[in-house]
Amino acid sequence: MPARRILTTESGAPVADNQNSQTAGPDGPVLLQDQHLIEKLAQFNRERIPERIVHARGSGAHGHFEVTVDVSRWTRARFLSEVGKTTEVFVRFSTVAGSRGAPEAVRDPRGFAVKFYTEDGNYDLTGNDTPIFFIRDPLKFPDFIHSQKPDPYTNRQEPDNVWDFFSLSPEATHMFTWLFGDRGIPASYRHMNGYGSHTFQWVNAAGEQFFVKYHFKTDQGIECLTTDEAARLAGENPESHTVDLMTAIDRGEFPSWTLRVQVMPAADAASYHVNPFDLTRVWPHSDYPLIEIGKMVLDRNPDNYFAEVEQAAFDPGHFVPGIGPSPDKMLQGRLFAYGDAHRYRLGINHTQLPINRPHATEADNYGRDGSMRFDAHYGREKNYEPNSFGGPAESGEPLYGSLAGGPSGTYAWDQHDGDDFSQAGALYRLMPEEAKARLVDNIASGLAQVSKDDIVERSIANFRHADPDYGARIEVAIKAHRR
Ligand code: NDP
Repeated sequence: MPARRILTTESGAPVADNQNSQTAGPDGPVLLQDQHLIEKLAQFNRERIPERIVHARGSGAHGHFEVTVDVSRWTRARFLSEVGKTTEVFVRFSTVAGSRGAPEAVRDPRGFAVKFYTEDGNYDLTGNDTPIFFIRDPLKFPDFIHSQKPDPYTNRQEPDNVWDFFSLSPEATHMFTWLFGDRGIPASYRHMNGYGSHTFQWVNAAGEQFFVKYHFKTDQGIECLTTDEAARLAGENPESHTVDLMTAIDRGEFPSWTLRVQVMPAADAASYHVNPFDLTRVWPHSDYPLIEIGKMVLDRNPDNYFAEVEQAAFDPGHFVPGIGPSPDKMLQGRLFAYGDAHRYRLGINHTQLPINRPHATEADNYGRDGSMRFDAHYGREKNYEPNSFGGPAESGEPLYGSLAGGPSGTYAWDQHDGDDFSQAGALYRLMPEEAKARLVDNIASGLAQVSKDDIVERSIANFRHADPDYGARIEVAIKAHRR
């Protein structure tokens, strides 16, 4: 038998006895000094983190995405830049309304969230198994979910609430027609399509904008359950989707999806007969046909559910250069809501967890501290930007185009009118001589303590631009302070 590893406490000390807690004599009360017992119970009490308010019940798998068709004329996203290029992915599938322990064979949309670990950072395509949604405005989302979740009095999903909200929200008619149709209960996560659902923006190397919709078509074929089949399965095997996905991958039957897109030149959007940014509507295929662009294969189960699935955090705001948001209001709302949910559930540093951090590049910025910062944390590096000590600097390259200012526009408007100095100079000049002298001395005493000459020179130059006399006097005063 191989040598067993020694059991330790959380601080690494060997545990002598994991069967008997310490007591005051053979029949005495348990001792407060039993650090191992107290730590073990405390750890256990804290095993649960807040459940996702939607999409609580889920399964995940690792895999890869391979580009099969050249799409460089529509997007400069590097992970899509050439045929044959592969990118690591992690996918989380989920039901929506049920709690973490709820049965999976139910009539409910399915979450279909894909994290592409690209060389330009993680790209999260956080979609569903439906190309549409119940509502078109994020302001209605909390109310909609309340109508689907347990009632405040009965603590169960109430048909009154579900149908009341529907009856007052005509925009949900398309989604209800889908949901109560044959595809409303997928047989498994493998046998359903995935959709980005929202309209997104692609930008090519020339800065031209396109709007796109993503369709992951299952290569396993669509398979669904009838209402009766689902009711039986939900009782007999509540984890039917979880088991199906895991055992298929364990058997070497790796599920795959063909990714197709619909592409709309940005100029078409204004005159299209459907509002292209309304999440309750599709773009009919006859207007914008599906174009195959790649294949996604899932070939590895997570080793640890909590680490890799429960802590997985997908964020529709995680774009890469060449891909961006559209004015779809639901998408715009989700750009805030997902990151906010993760910061609540997992904490501000959840982006460092192995499942969430970039895999094909590294995050490099000036975000610091916060709860549970557990990396080397940039050591002694400066924690502000701009700085003259090195460290990461902005690329200057627009990530995607503006939707407000035209195709070549930008949202990052610089409000600078070209004058940083004239009013500082006017303030200096209105001061009486004694006040000028105090001002100059206060600044000079600070700058005299700076160890790097270039910092001092740049600072003096700013004051000189405000008023030559102001800068000259500071320069002289610094020398006097250093003597
Ligand atoms: P098409 O005839 O070109 O496409 C019909 C689509 O409906 C196909 O994608 C088909 O999927 C899908 N479908 C078939 N049966 C069902 C079902 N029971 N529940 C949900 N989807 C089903 O028509 P249009 O593009 O003009 O769209 C017509 C309607 O089809 C839309 O209003 C929408 O409800 C639905 N649809 C449209 C999609 C789109 O992006 N245009 C995407 C999916 C559905 P498959 O090819 O896999 O059989």
